[in-house]
Amino acid sequence: MSYDNLGRTAVVTGAASGMGEATARLLAANGARVALLARRADRLDELAESIAAAGGQALAVPVDVTDGASVDAAADRIHHAYGPVDLVVNSAGVMLPNPVDDGRIDEWSRMIDTNLTGALRIIRAFTADLVAAAAERRPADLVNISSNGAHVTFPQYAVYGATKAALTHLSATLRTELGTRDVRVTNIEPGLTRTELDQHLDNPELSSQLGDMYEAIGTLAPEDVADLIGYVVSRPAHVNLRQVIVLPNRQV
Ligand code: NDP
Repeated sequence: MSYDNLGRTAVVTGAASGMGEATARLLAANGARVALLARRADRLDELAESIAAAGGQALAVPVDVTDGASVDAAADRIHHAYGPVDLVVNSAGVMLPNPVDDGRIDEWSRMIDTNLTGALRIIRAFTADLVAAAAERRPADLVNISSNGAHVTFPQYAVYGATKAALTHLSATLRTELGTRDVRVTNIEPGLTRTELDQHLDNPELSSQLGDMYEAIGTLAPEDVADLIGYVVSRPAHVNLRQVIVLPNRQV
């Protein structure tokens, strides 16, 4: 889909794959300058080249959102190259399900530090830019990719779901601080989407269970979520879709 009026400066985390990559491509195709953030520099370089070849503008910025110094350095690089940003998409995330009895504090810490604190580090780095853009009466957007797992309970996914419930609540509450200054905060809750998210599971039984769900229910494509983000951020500046749940038809 194409959207008008995206001549904006965007930061997209999780841009190495999945929804982040698809969102970066869509925003760039619609005229945004896009900073591409994730850890895999090779993937970001390939994406930046592909966007440039299609006539867009993108900057590969390798970063680990679990590392505050890395996020600060990334923000410096982006500001130096592009100046202040007016559109931030938090798509970086990991999903590492296992039975709670396994006590996998390594996985729990990684999910909390990426999905929640990682998003907060990015918010900390760019909130001043968003507030300044809104003060100049330009559209300013913070888009957080949460999950329908913020609401649905599912065995083995307790900690992942908890990080997403926290992100959903964070998005809603941030509107009380940022919405009053005309920064739009949008929380997107996708259902099953075919990406690389399931490739980090270390539990074969749960991997195969997820594969069965894909078969039985069907999936969204990452481009479907990107399309939704393109729609949300191209509404008139006073319109904030604050919470959007997007599911494949057969997912309840
Ligand atoms: P992907 O695994 O394809 O994308 C996740 C991205 O996050 C990757 O590009 C990865 O790149 C990046 N990332 C992971 N850890 C870090 C880190 N420490 N620092 C910087 N970047 C990091 O999955 P999706 O596109 O599906 O995931 C996007 C978001 O959507 C996630 O928050 C996920 O929880 C959420 N979601 C996904 C659903 C699905 O069914 N796929 C459903 C609902 C929500 P790299 O490894 O190079 O750092």
